[in-house]
Amino acid sequence: MEVLQDVKKRVFKFGNKTADGNSEMRNLLGGKGANLAEMSSIGIPVPPGFTITTEVCTEYNELGQIAAINLIKDEVEASVASIESQMGAAFGDKDNPLLISVRSGARVSMPGMMDTVLNLGINDEVVLGLAKKTNNERFAWDSYRRFIQMYGGVVLGMKPASKEDIDPFEEIMEHLKEKRGITLDTEFTLQDLQDLVYDFKDAVKKRTGKNFPTNPWDQLWGAIIAVFNSWNGDRAVYYRNMNGYPADWGTAVNVQAMVYGNMGENSGTGVCFTRDAGTGENIFNGEYLINAQGEDVVAGVRTPQQITKIGSQRWAELAKIEEEDRAENYPSLEELMPTIFSELNSYQDILEKHYRDMQDMEFTIQDGKLWILQTRNGKRTGAAMVKIAMDLQKEGMIDEKEALMLVEPNKLDELLHPVFDPEALKRAKVIAQGLPASPGAATGKIVFFADEADKYKNSILVRIETSPEDLEGMNIAKGILTARGGMTSHAAVVARGMGKCCISGAGALKIDYKRRTVTIGNQKYHEGDWISLNGSTGNIIEGKVATKEPQLSGEFAEIMNLADKYGEIKVRTNADTPRDAKVARSFGAQGIGLTRTEHMFFELDRIKAMREMILADTVKGRKQALEELLPMQRSDFEGIFEAMEGCAVTIRLLDPPLHEFVPHQLATQKELAEDMHISLQAVKNKVAELEEFNPMLGHRGCRLGNTYPEITEMQARAIIEAALNLKERGVVCKPEIMIPLVGTVKEFEMQEQIIRRTAKTIFKERNDAVEYSVGTMIEIPRAALMADLIAEKADFFSFGTNDLTQMTFGYSRDDASKFLPKYIEKGILKVDPFEVIDQEGVGQLVKIGTQRGRATKPELKVGICGEHGGEPSSIEFCYNTGMDYVSCSPYRVPIARLVSAQAAIKSTM
Ligand code: PEP
Ligand code: MG
Repeated sequence: MEVLQDVKKRVFKFGNKTADGNSEMRNLLGGKGANLAEMSSIGIPVPPGFTITTEVCTEYNELGQIAAINLIKDEVEASVASIESQMGAAFGDKDNPLLISVRSGARVSMPGMMDTVLNLGINDEVVLGLAKKTNNERFAWDSYRRFIQMYGGVVLGMKPASKEDIDPFEEIMEHLKEKRGITLDTEFTLQDLQDLVYDFKDAVKKRTGKNFPTNPWDQLWGAIIAVFNSWNGDRAVYYRNMNGYPADWGTAVNVQAMVYGNMGENSGTGVCFTRDAGTGENIFNGEYLINAQGEDVVAGVRTPQQITKIGSQRWAELAKIEEEDRAENYPSLEELMPTIFSELNSYQDILEKHYRDMQDMEFTIQDGKLWILQTRNGKRTGAAMVKIAMDLQKEGMIDEKEALMLVEPNKLDELLHPVFDPEALKRAKVIAQGLPASPGAATGKIVFFADEADKYKNSILVRIETSPEDLEGMNIAKGILTARGGMTSHAAVVARGMGKCCISGAGALKIDYKRRTVTIGNQKYHEGDWISLNGSTGNIIEGKVATKEPQLSGEFAEIMNLADKYGEIKVRTNADTPRDAKVARSFGAQGIGLTRTEHMFFELDRIKAMREMILADTVKGRKQALEELLPMQRSDFEGIFEAMEGCAVTIRLLDPPLHEFVPHQLATQKELAEDMHISLQAVKNKVAELEEFNPMLGHRGCRLGNTYPEITEMQARAIIEAALNLKERGVVCKPEIMIPLVGTVKEFEMQEQIIRRTAKTIFKERNDAVEYSVGTMIEIPRAALMADLIAEKADFFSFGTNDLTQMTFGYSRDDASKFLPKYIEKGILKVDPFEVIDQEGVGQLVKIGTQRGRATKPELKVGICGEHGGEPSSIEFCYNTGMDYVSCSPYRVPIARLVSAQAAIKSTM
């Protein structure tokens, strides 16, 4: 009988200018694995190895360890044999040992979020062989102690769980340093390193109850499983959730021959970028360390040197280092190893051209031979992203559409936020300087611990150096300042990824965590003191510095013009005030998709009138309050119409969830009682009467306008009069009046009648007229289902996907935050449906509503004004549904313009 074979390929080899995979396979091989395969096949010297697919990670999570290992055992063994033959060494061999690395690699890069084990395959015998083979005993024992330390932390669970815990290996090393009166790792003698290995193994035995694994194959399987586990580690889960990466992507595992940058003065290791990741300038740059391993560069413990001479000179200027000192003590790779440099320079050129994007590469020089360890599309700031896209297009490397596709919509956000006011900067007192690791302006109060970043509304995280555990706090802080570390330190890389202002390597800072102070020169600053960071220059400034709106010019304006050339779905804005409308217009909004008229009353003097109106017992009382509100509304509408220069403006009638407006504090209630000439008790009674169990499903939207028609009347009057007043001033505007929370045709009809009757009266009074239309929000599931009938009456639809999501899922908008994070953590939901439209469910209602509405009225204008209108995947969905426009908050308008173009481009691909 024939046995069915499981023939799926789960392990992909690469090396020696060939590979089983390629760069198209990033979902299966992870970004790192796909790139290693691609590099190998285009002739870049990568250490040979293999990639275990992301699917195996998922299989491991489903089937468990034993079954997962069985699935890949044969392939892994054959692949190790292939590395052995390419490197001319054998895994576990005591005379000619091959050591390997085991690294994670998800389909997107998650810097520092998952685990890595280096130097794997050493034991007490192998270390002797390694020493003999390399003729370097110190190196062999140093590799051994590093291996136990890393393996112990990553695989055997000995990493400290919190900041109070001490790393057991660090503790042993500190102890030895103290005993020997030394401060640096490099000062350990051979005997010290041998003692450390012994003590480390002892610590493992004590902590885990088991001997440190000596069989290289046991070490390898342990590391592979640990990498799979790290996909579900706290750091990785937080990072995934923050970026919306689903749990079922999994991570690949890359196993590769080790090459060593710490084999002496003819070895080294570094990181480089084909262009400047901070500014986007087309200059090759990066950092390296002689006689070091990769993590030494990123960890920021030693100060790395620059790759190019010009970069080195720039760095020295910032660090206030004289040229002579620089050339002697911190020479560039270009100066120190000119042949290696020129080889590296040629690879960076080949790789950028090959991937047609800025590359972030890691390399190692082992005893005079250059190896490229990895390349990936480099993380960059928003400003660099835009500049690189436009530059590559101008250089002819990519076309206009490709340039647009290179821009990550959400990252534009960084360019839309305030910068330092140049005037205020002139007066600023610069107290120190560091490396401009991630541009931007940040001003805030000093905190020293990442988990205290939320102590102040605006905080600046000040650390000696950061580690991946600090991620959450770095995200909360307005800016990050570190005393150590170069441009590629953890802080710098992560901050650039987040678009967060960061200054690293500010050596003048003396940080005392215990006393919570930082001393610069003679000046001591305490936790809670204000400082400001200029991430573009590296300047650290005392106190608070005023910021101002950014200018959207240069490459940003160019990319936006390109976006408009290809974009099809229009972009409007949600704006409630003339100021918002102006900002949105300057960002290129083509109209207003939603003015929430109730938001116009949030200001102090206005909310009073609004409350009087809500609390009024009689029609007369209400009309009186409305009289007060009318001029305020009219002048706001005029301001908005004016700011929008004749573009379409949709104004929504009042939709106040009453609980947001009713006064709950005693002092406010007293004040209101006085103003309204009624007793405090009467106010209290009214507040009690208005109390609702489910305000979000309560007396709001058109339900209010239908029970109190005088409200709709006043608002219709304010809108029409404002339009007429503008007409007199020569500005043509055609208001679109929108009725909220419609569920039945009748609800719409009654409101429409009031509006049209009021308009008619005003036209008669003024002996003049303006064009206007009356449409509705589609935000109640019933309205989407009844869209064919509603469209008989309504001039336009606008999907209110906030309420539509609330009512389709049955999740209260006000309460969902209590359980949604847990739901996402448990995988019940992939993302927050209030942020990203649920295309499967809510999306059906949007499609049905659009199709049924247009079946009745083919020319029906359809848009969206829920928060989803500014979220990239939701905008794409709206485009594919055939909507005319999306509407989003002013600061998201450029993002939506870009996505509009990207959606149109994708639809033709
Ligand atoms: C909506 O429900 O999507 C909407 C835009 O209205 P609001 O958020 O004001 O309820
Ligand atoms: Mg709504």
